[in-house]
Amino acid sequence: IKKVAVFTSGGDSPGMNAAIRSVVRTCAYHSLECIAIHRGYQGMIEGDFEAMNARSVKDIINRGGTFLRSARSMEFKTKEGRLKAYNNLKENGIDAIVAIGGDGTFTGAMIFSKEFGIPIIGIPGTIDNDIVGTSHTLGYDTALNTVCDAIDKIRDTASSHDRLFFVEVMGRDVGHIALNAGIGAGAEEILIPEENLGLERLLESLERSRRSGKTSSIVIVAEGDNIGKNVFELKDYVNEHLPFYDVRVSVLGHMQRGGSPTCFDRVLASRMGVKAVESLLDGESNKMVGLLNDKMELTPLEEAIKGHTEINHELLKVSDIMSI
Ligand code: ATP
Repeated sequence: IKKVAVFTSGGDSPGMNAAIRSVVRTCAYHSLECIAIHRGYQGMIEGDFEAMNARSVKDIINRGGTFLRSARSMEFKTKEGRLKAYNNLKENGIDAIVAIGGDGTFTGAMIFSKEFGIPIIGIPGTIDNDIVGTSHTLGYDTALNTVCDAIDKIRDTASSHDRLFFVEVMGRDVGHIALNAGIGAGAEEILIPEENLGLERLLESLERSRRSGKTSSIVIVAEGDNIGKNVFELKDYVNEHLPFYDVRVSVLGHMQRGGSPTCFDRVLASRMGVKAVESLLDGESNKMVGLLNDKMELTPLEEAIKGHTEINHELLKVSDIMSI
């Protein structure tokens, strides 16, 4: 291969800039040309390309978001759209791709690579940590720290006013952020999609903590919690059953995806970029780079998408014991 394209797609995550930087510089190191594609698959269809060199990616390792921007492209889901994209790549002499994104991005990459035979390696960039084949997706560690920090701040006001807070964090299908940030920030209870605590047990736990002398409490609720109520419904429910509590709700929202990446995510991004380009040079394709037992490993994109990440059950017990 001679010319590698890199792009970011789907939801952004902290560390994407550091990963682009790594891909660009690894290409320079191996004397490969590197082209950046703006706005993901949509930019590929529109030929929104920019030649990169090692200096084009200075001062971005510490920046959140993605300077190449991201986009959701409906057109890429059509055969005609993908053909347009392929013709643009061909015209520009691009013969390999590094795709940074989540499972949708990888699904598109697999289809595209099969149709046109172009080698593609994926870098998992999403805060949810919901991709099989890596212990950490890019941006997850930063999101944990952001959420932990936000809960610390909410705790200050909760304890000043003897309040109970329900804090909603991201996680429609997986509870990794809720569980880890919840333990890190000392949450009373953590409600996640993978486990149903039950409303009765939630009330019991809140009553018990009240009896044990706690005057304020924080309950972390993943967006897709399994208890059958969202944060606002939970507030009403608790108001009705435990009237002595002054209950408030805080939805953290998109701030969880922003911010400067942690050192962990910057190092991870740098390692993933190197591994992605060197895997292409080794003739690999249709695989994702990931961190497993502190080593960079490859997993077929198909497995990465299809698999389901498990929560760590030990953490449920730790959370339980810590909230005694
Ligand atoms: P996140 O997990 O943060 O949402 P993602 O990569 O899963 O990130 P998506 O919006 O699901 O984000 O996918 C990104 C883009 O990938 C889509 O806008 C679309 O262009 C492309 N894509 C997704 N699914 C397909 C598909 N089945 N065929 C072709 N392209 C697809």
